[in-house]
Amino acid sequence: LEQMDPDPSKKTLVVLGTGWGSVSLLKKLDTENYNVIVVSPRNYFLFTPLLPSCTTGTIEHRSIMEPIRNFLRHKKAAVKYYEAECTKIDYENKKIYINDESEIKGNSSATEVPFDMLVVGVGAENATFGIPGVREHGCFLKEVPDAQKIRKRIMDCVETATFKDQSPEEIKRLLHMVVVGGGPTGVEFAGELQDFFENDLRKWVPEIADNFHVTLVEALPSVLPSFSKNLIDYTEQTFKEETIEVRTKTMVKNVTEKYIEAQFTDANGEKQVEKIPYGLLVWATGNALRPMVKDLMSQIPAQKDSRRGLAVNEYLVVKGTENIWAVGDCAVANYAPTAQVAAQEGAFLARLFNQMAKTEAIELELASLSTVQEHAPNKESRDDAFGKIKDLQKRLRRVKSMGPFEYSHQGSLAYIGSEKAVADISWWTGNLATGGQLTYFFWRSAYLSMCFSSKFFLFICSPSRATAASLFVLGGKG
Ligand code: FAD
Ligand code: NAD
Repeated sequence: LEQMDPDPSKKTLVVLGTGWGSVSLLKKLDTENYNVIVVSPRNYFLFTPLLPSCTTGTIEHRSIMEPIRNFLRHKKAAVKYYEAECTKIDYENKKIYINDESEIKGNSSATEVPFDMLVVGVGAENATFGIPGVREHGCFLKEVPDAQKIRKRIMDCVETATFKDQSPEEIKRLLHMVVVGGGPTGVEFAGELQDFFENDLRKWVPEIADNFHVTLVEALPSVLPSFSKNLIDYTEQTFKEETIEVRTKTMVKNVTEKYIEAQFTDANGEKQVEKIPYGLLVWATGNALRPMVKDLMSQIPAQKDSRRGLAVNEYLVVKGTENIWAVGDCAVANYAPTAQVAAQEGAFLARLFNQMAKTEAIELELASLSTVQEHAPNKESRDDAFGKIKDLQKRLRRVKSMGPFEYSHQGSLAYIGSEKAVADISWWTGNLATGGQLTYFFWRSAYLSMCFSSKFFLFICSPSRATAASLFVLGGKG
């Protein structure tokens, strides 16, 4: 296996992660300008908007994964990929530490990689707020193995509930599917699960019909707090019709193997704690910082007041550094942690790095032309060099004039079950808040076309992407 040495005349650009931000950057980056190295423990890109559909088999997980090797082989200049986790970024010494955390390890499984430029696109962890028992007993919904685990557990609960001589209380518990977190992830999963019950489970195992029950628990007064009021009402009403129980103003405080303890305020204003038995617990309470991101923040004084992630400036440079950029869920740029934001940030950085390379090339040319001009043997060649310098300076000003990152919000969309979706969309005439089957069919056709092409990411990031196409990153179901 031939190991290519980095080109010493080029800077080494290390990209961490193979998610929305990093892959969007790699898609548009002219890799001929840098020695590009990608480090990520996940050797595929994951189209997260369709992940909730994998939990019930509506969508096969392979159709929402794109091998990173397949993606990278289309780049003009070779890109190195290491399947590894970055465990530490040493800001001072410009190097990262990487560990091969996969099952199969060779003689070398932990090493260092030096960088001139670094892009941190490692996403976020699942937030648990330190609530006891969540990690041991709950299922998250962030990665493909999470969706597979949920799928297996749903069926295991059903089969165990129908096991010989199971007591009525135990049947009830096993068939109680509890989802904690009423953000888009929790809402979409609850909708998918109820669909699965109505469309399949009810027919396959009729004896569970009276006891199968989905409950969505949310600490705030409503689900989908970032959506318009009418869409929140529409979602809650649809859930009622779908017989999904929504428990708002209810905060989970403790998780045990068979029940959760949730705090709510009763009609008298008294705080009560209720034990809610469950068979399956899906925990979807949002994002938390990864430890290696926290560690990097602790090395940079300018990051000391940042809590939710790496504070970046308008060019996505990590504040307090000159050679580190951050994109997506690990960066704090005052936007929601969504694929839509991460993809736009990644594309912006690609443009920025392409421009930086051009700038450097022009500056080098300018320097050599100045020498030519200085040592020109006659006026004619001096004037010739002068003219070229003027042209190059003009080009340099144009190249350098790249504006800061500006996020263009296309809207938000979530699937809510029974072939209905809700959408808050920025429309030509203003904002459109819409919900129902039509919204769902619109998005379904879009997603299906993407899934069949299987090159969804190439499509999403293509320059010809129009408003409607860019909304693919917003959600919806295929
Ligand atoms: P990610 O896409 O999470 O990628 C992070 C990458 O970093 C991964 O490749 C990971 O393996 C890698 N990594 C992790 N740790 C390390 C390390 N130590 N070293 C190196 N690499 C590392 N957003 C929308 O806009 N619309 C939607 O419809 C939508 N639906 C969603 C549905 C679900 C179920 C979920 C969980 C999220 C959804 N989101 C949606 C949010 C969206 O997926 C995230 O905002 C987006 O993935 C963030 O992109 P990212 O590149 O920051 O991180
Ligand atoms: P979120 O942060 O949007 O929602 C988490 C919810 O959990 C919050 O409403 C919070 O009040 C609740 N919560 C927290 N602790 C709790 C507790 N102890 N008990 C009960 N409830 C508790 O998280 P998410 O839904 O995973 O979304 C994460 C990001 O991904 C968001 O930016 C979201 O917009 C994006 N996303 C978008 C889509 C889409 O557009 N369709 C789908 C999934 C995720």
